[in-house]
Amino acid sequence: MRDHYDVLVIGAGPAGLAAAQTAASHGARVGLLDAQPRPGGQVWRHDVQHPLPRDARNAVDDLHGVDWLARHSVVATESSSLRVETPQGSRLLSYGALVIATGARELLLPFPGWTLPGVTGAGGLQALAKQGWPVAGRRVVIAGSGPLLLAAADTLRKHGAQVVGIYEQANAGNVRSFAAQLRHWPARAWQAAGLRLRLAGIPYRFGSFVRKAHGDDCVQRVDIDTPHGVQTVACDLLAVGYGLVPNTELAALLGCALDHSDIHPRVQVDALLRTSVANVYAAGESCGIAGLAVARIEGALAGHRAAGHVDAARALLAPRDRERRFGALLARHFALDSRLHKLADDLTLVCRCEDVRMGELTGFTDARAAKLATRCGMGACQGRICGTALAELGRFPRSGSRPPIFPARLATLAGLSPLSSDDAQRGS
Ligand SMILES: Cc1cc2nc3c(=O)[nH]c(=O)nc-3n(C[C@H](O)[C@H](O)[C@H](O)COP(=O)(O)OP(=O)(O)OC[C@H]3O[C@@H](n4cnc5c(N)ncnc54)[C@H](O)[C@@H]3O)c2cc1C
Repeated sequence: MRDHYDVLVIGAGPAGLAAAQTAASHGARVGLLDAQPRPGGQVWRHDVQHPLPRDARNAVDDLHGVDWLARHSVVATESSSLRVETPQGSRLLSYGALVIATGARELLLPFPGWTLPGVTGAGGLQALAKQGWPVAGRRVVIAGSGPLLLAAADTLRKHGAQVVGIYEQANAGNVRSFAAQLRHWPARAWQAAGLRLRLAGIPYRFGSFVRKAHGDDCVQRVDIDTPHGVQTVACDLLAVGYGLVPNTELAALLGCALDHSDIHPRVQVDALLRTSVANVYAAGESCGIAGLAVARIEGALAGHRAAGHVDAARALLAPRDRERRFGALLARHFALDSRLHKLADDLTLVCRCEDVRMGELTGFTDARAAKLATRCGMGACQGRICGTALAELGRFPRSGSRPPIFPARLATLAGLSPLSSDDAQRGS
């Protein structure tokens, strides 16, 4: 049996929430689903110790007129419907219009020691702390690139962690010039100033990156390459994230064109967020990294559009374009140093799901051949981590998406239509 919605929204982050609320305000029958148990996405993830700020709480709680479908993961597409795994089983959902608001994930890059217990992404450790993983009293090194490092440090500090340093790979000139440009986005300038104030006393170093993590059963110290030479820092936890990349797997599965002008593709949309597939819209970070404000505006824009209110959507174009310029500023000032592409040696694990080392990929020029020979990218993350890292390192472009896009139960998969011969030829 299929459940049908006039507007179905995938992802309940700021973009998806705004899309669902806006479409429902026009009287549409709206479904909003997310793999997570609570709405909020990455930035408004439920925190077991600290309440969300008031405006975030309002956005998350205002689901009037929306069917909220928690713990629903879209794993595949099936004859113009979506196959969704739920805690109870699986469902087929169909729609008049679909809004893809699947957000972004962290970019992780391999370096010697990155698979030691205690090493995570920066946003990853932030999410763990919010969900109750104990960090109080633990010495944490935060490294990588972009404003997320400061947001992660702030959360970890609030949870009692001892943040021993924040190491940003972008050089001091780039970070200063980024900060100077923030005057064009006053709300962001205030947010950044507040963060710096709360993090006063924690060293924030530029032009610095983790070269190696050491430890026996877990990380104990890290070597950090700084403009003044290599520094070794003792720690209990290391959180490293090199910015964000859009989640495009579902859009690709639906046949939506992707924009490949950057190493990491994003969903291609027109000015009013229409994808290349009829009645499918995309909003927020799945269309490119630009932060919370863009996600909220684009969500509302897509909600108007999906409910057929084009003029209301057009009214949001100017603020959206202004906020999207912030994304370009981020990309320019936090571009990754090419030395980060050379940190992994032949013995460094690249695919942590299938234990594939960098050296095993020597000689392969395309991802599919490497995958068939080594199983690289065939584990639980389906290449989300290693495939994205290898694309960033210039080894192989990302290979196409195929179902299931998330690990799924056999019973869910049994409900799928048989693979087409095209799928079979693409191989797993
Ligand atoms: C780990 C992490 C931490 C972050 N922390 C901060 C922070 O502290 N401060 C800040 O300003 N910004 C933070 N950001 C950036 C922030 O996510 C964006 O600025 C903004 O919130 C993006 O909103 P969005 O709605 O586009 O996507 P998201 O907030 O990423 O929401 C996307 C949602 O889609 C769901 N989803 C994806 N695919 C499927 C599927 N197939 N089936 C079902 N559900 C699916 C996900 O579970 C997720 O809840 C973080 C990003 C990441 C990746």
